[in-house]
Amino acid sequence: MKILMVRPQPAQQTIGLQHVMIVEPLELEVLGALRRAQDEVVIVDMILECQPLEYFLRLHRPDMICVTGYITNVATMGEYCLAAKAFNSRIHTVVGGVHCEVCPDDLDLPGIDFRVVRNPVTMFPQLLDHLDLGADAPTGVLASGQACIQTELPALDFIYATPDRSLVAGYRKHYFYIFHDKVALLKTSFGCPFNCNFCFCREITRGLYRQRPLAETLDELESLPQKEIYIVDDDFLADRRFLRAFLDGLKTRKIHKHYLIYGRADFIAENPDLLEQFRNQGLTTVIVGFESFFEEELAQYAKNSDVQTNRRAMDVLNRLDIDCFATIILNPDWCRQDFDRLEKELKDLQINFVNLQPLTPLPGTQMEVPKDTLLIAREDYPKWDLAHLSIQPTRLSVPDYYREILRLYNRVLFQPRVLVRFLLKYKPKMLWKMIQGTSRVSRQYREKIKEAESQLDFNTRQGG
Ligand code: SF4
Repeated sequence: MKILMVRPQPAQQTIGLQHVMIVEPLELEVLGALRRAQDEVVIVDMILECQPLEYFLRLHRPDMICVTGYITNVATMGEYCLAAKAFNSRIHTVVGGVHCEVCPDDLDLPGIDFRVVRNPVTMFPQLLDHLDLGADAPTGVLASGQACIQTELPALDFIYATPDRSLVAGYRKHYFYIFHDKVALLKTSFGCPFNCNFCFCREITRGLYRQRPLAETLDELESLPQKEIYIVDDDFLADRRFLRAFLDGLKTRKIHKHYLIYGRADFIAENPDLLEQFRNQGLTTVIVGFESFFEEELAQYAKNSDVQTNRRAMDVLNRLDIDCFATIILNPDWCRQDFDRLEKELKDLQINFVNLQPLTPLPGTQMEVPKDTLLIAREDYPKWDLAHLSIQPTRLSVPDYYREILRLYNRVLFQPRVLVRFLLKYKPKMLWKMIQGTSRVSRQYREKIKEAESQLDFNTRQGG
């Protein structure tokens, strides 16, 4: 079979992380590696391509198109499948990805033949055999119109395949993550042992956590020509024993690379010795989900951590000169003073790079809010991007809340001290990219402010 695998382009309305990061489509590289001897696979990365999908359909004339994506991509995934059917109704259309696995009903759309909802590494080859050779339909794949009955799905198997990175060789030079150029992704575990109620990641593995065999992970790491490695585990700092074994493996195998990882504040605060060892073996940056510097909010989010721990973690990272990209959740109950307080806290702790996320009850998570407080319709998929306001703020108007977000970003990211530090530490090209990217995000926020002001005017006129 000729298989066209497509990573969708983000919708225009999505406020975009793609402006500050574009990384390889790891899940498609994994699926691509599962092709049988008789299959041919092409990956098209629509984030980087300028031609429309029809161009690639004409060019490759596939028998099957596979599209994976997030919640923000749902509509585009449906459009691509419809376009494939319009081009040739015999093309099999298949969708997958994390949103499809957690909320499969959202992708039961016209034009989509199959949704891979469980164990894609096991199910995908079975689906190929089913379509090609008439084998039994795989149980973790739903056909069009088929209801998802959780009890009828197979158990999670946590099977992984080494990604075929040659499939994106032509795109490789464009992949980067903020300051990390030509970054390669590595996955060492699935899920997370914690239970934060806003978190979508834990829903993908139904709260379970499994590590890949260490030797297999190190083999893959050793085979990567890239120096910059982004370990995309939901929480790479989940297990002291595993981290120690990983670091021993790096030493034994003489692997010298730079690492960017996700890690929790409590692990960092409690394991400064291991962080120091890791820093000496190439750790440069940790993305830390601090979420809040208010105790009651950390409790509200079931973060199982506290403000003092967040501060201790930053002390460790600053002392070791490890960069921190901080993720903060902005609560809809905040007033201007709360934004000011956060700004002071970020500056006091020398947190130089932040991702500010308005609290978002993502479909599929445990977080629920009254429907009448939602600002985004469930089907308005491109806006579920963790950057739009999804819950009506209680103490600020929507335009004012967006203004505060923009103001805080500008005050944290564009401090002269911080820019000088970035310039000294990273290539000027990466700093320039970051400035360009954040300017695009700022422009999107300014448009949101205008749009929200018009809506407010309209509501006032209607009310008056
Ligand atoms: S937010 Fe982080 S620590 Fe919490 S469940 Fe999700 S991945 Fe785990």
